[in-house]
Amino acid sequence: MSAHILSGITVAKEVKAQVAIDIEALKADGIEVGLATLLVGDDPASHIYVSYKHKDADAVGMNSFDVQLPQDATQADVFAAVDDLNARDDVTGIIVQLPLPDGLDGEAAVERVLPTKDADGLHPFNLGRVILGRPGPLPATPSGVMTILDHYGIETAGKTAVIVGRSFLVGKPMGLLLGAKGVDATVIQAHSRTPDLAAVCATADILITAIGRPGMVDASFVKPGAVVIDVGTTRTDDGLRGDVLFDEVVEIAGAITPVPGGVGPMTRASLLTNTIGLARAQSTDFRT
Ligand code: NAP
Repeated sequence: MSAHILSGITVAKEVKAQVAIDIEALKADGIEVGLATLLVGDDPASHIYVSYKHKDADAVGMNSFDVQLPQDATQADVFAAVDDLNARDDVTGIIVQLPLPDGLDGEAAVERVLPTKDADGLHPFNLGRVILGRPGPLPATPSGVMTILDHYGIETAGKTAVIVGRSFLVGKPMGLLLGAKGVDATVIQAHSRTPDLAAVCATADILITAIGRPGMVDASFVKPGAVVIDVGTTRTDDGLRGDVLFDEVVEIAGAITPVPGGVGPMTRASLLTNTIGLARAQSTDFRT
């Protein structure tokens, strides 16, 4: 039997409808919400991703600002642009579009963003708050995955979750969110040095792949009936591909996210919800 399809497009639509309501409420309280993106260089995929983020902001009535630097920008140029956005009253949240061109330090650029304007939820201050279970912006992609699980009523408590990938962007914070008190999955964090990866993955009730190797995860990685969340996105000649061999895995999984139309739209929706949360926090004490 074919797996249930977990549509990020459907869930993102609901999230965005709520964001639009929240923006109206904030406006009524005299608070304007503004999302700024900083894009460095000529990477075509990054230009596409940034244009989507502005479209999303427009669609929910959020102001947005598009700052771009040339391919030959220096680290000092990047820091100066971030400082500028940090200082602007009309900018509530800031996204540094990663990766930066070779030779530039993306993590340092993210750390330059004020934690109170960190729309991506990737600043070390905010990642630290995730470890502590304190409120604050959550890393956008893992947060989007959690929203999908919640929307479709997928039980996490007592389940074994295998996450393939341990980047600071996706894999590591995904493990923190799934293993948090109240979520209560038992988390296995796999990576390129994990022996017998397929066998480890086949123990998962919830399998999350954040690898960047198109089609690597075939049916042998999947326990029948498991929930499979494919975070991977790789641009190929055949279009955008996930890590999961969808046509094969859809036949044995219980539920699965497609690529495109799965986690991607949810990452963008989480950026909007983070920006709303930042707007609220900026009008109160952030560390509550
Ligand atoms: P990354 O920093 O390159 O991390 C990739 C992870 O996969 C690493 O931990 C690596 O292990 C592991 N890995 C690589 N090859 C492997 C293999 N053969 N077997 C097992 N593990 C392997 O990438 P990332 O930033 O986390 O992104 C991962 C994927 O998600 C990419 O395709 C990216 O485009 C996509 N992504 C999608 C969204 C979205 O919104 N849909 C958002 C962010 C990222 P080691 O640590 O041992 O090297």
